[in-house]
Amino acid sequence: MSTTVNAIAAPSATEPLITTTIERRDVGAKDVLIEIAYSGICHSDIHTVRGEWGQIQYPQVVGHEIVGVVTEVGSEVTLHQVGDRVGVGCMVNSCRECENCLAGMENYCLKGNTGTYTAVDTDGSITQGGYSTHIVVVEDFVLKVPESIPYESAAPLLCAGITTYSPLAHWNAGPGKKVAVVGLGGLGHMAVKIAHAMGAEVTVLSQTLSKKDDGLRLGADHYYATSDEATFKDLRNSFDLVINTVSAKIDLNAYLRLLRLDGTFVSVGAPPEPLDVQVFTLFGNRRSFAGSSIGSIAETQEMLDFCAEHGIAPETELIEATADAVNAAYERVLKSDVRYRFVMDIKTLADAAA
Ligand SMILES: [Zn+2]
Ligand SMILES: [Zn+2]
Repeated sequence: MSTTVNAIAAPSATEPLITTTIERRDVGAKDVLIEIAYSGICHSDIHTVRGEWGQIQYPQVVGHEIVGVVTEVGSEVTLHQVGDRVGVGCMVNSCRECENCLAGMENYCLKGNTGTYTAVDTDGSITQGGYSTHIVVVEDFVLKVPESIPYESAAPLLCAGITTYSPLAHWNAGPGKKVAVVGLGGLGHMAVKIAHAMGAEVTVLSQTLSKKDDGLRLGADHYYATSDEATFKDLRNSFDLVINTVSAKIDLNAYLRLLRLDGTFVSVGAPPEPLDVQVFTLFGNRRSFAGSSIGSIAETQEMLDFCAEHGIAPETELIEATADAVNAAYERVLKSDVRYRFVMDIKTLADAAA
């Protein structure tokens, strides 16, 4: 038994997305049914549907920045009620029994958390993401989205927000700390807002100065162009934390040298090729090179509450949820021509003929 719902799906790795229908499972005892209101477009969605991160099954619906309202709850659900404003991010389940899950770090589940799309679900089906009108998710992987966060711009918090909040919180960004954010895109603009709200001194390192006014408006204290070689000389031994949001190949050693004593360079962007590390660069200032992947469910809730408390919301461009609009948005994401995240209004999809 299942319910047929409207969705925007990739029919193959090489064709544009199309409007279609998919099946959602019936609401189980611990499930909630969410009527999706808004769905963000993450660069990962594009890599995934185009098969750039490995082969997937088609048709595939992506999208892991989801906000909506609970319209049905299972008989054993205690965490959510019909009418609640909720969100779903990059994962919808995990093994619940490995060391990391037991420690409340489901995002680092040793068996691999169940991704919101392209993962094998408990019933053997492939998970389908948020470019659709409804989704059924087990209650403890559903977040509460505070009402004070604007509804139409909240969705990107579920991926871009938590992906940057988690390393900033883990490495103690705050008063007296100097934080650099590499890249001012979907992830980077959230890192700037959050680090600033945490009280850190924030520097943006971007390829050019073209977004400098924006960066300063979003909360950065300083803004430098990485295309200018003087930047790497001037900022040597400066930062406690560097958050790299760029997925292209970078000169890692040049960035590591920007760290002061006990500083950490954390990559949340994923360059496709290996990066070369000169160990001698790590010796200097006892530097660390680290990675970070989304955040736990508890930490995601903490991030949402933090953003509500500090009046933080992503900068978004709202589009209609039609295949044409999403295909066009993909091309603009690939050209970094969006400030700073596309969000689709799922109402269009709900109104579309099935
Ligand atoms: Zn994402
Ligand atoms: Zn696990």
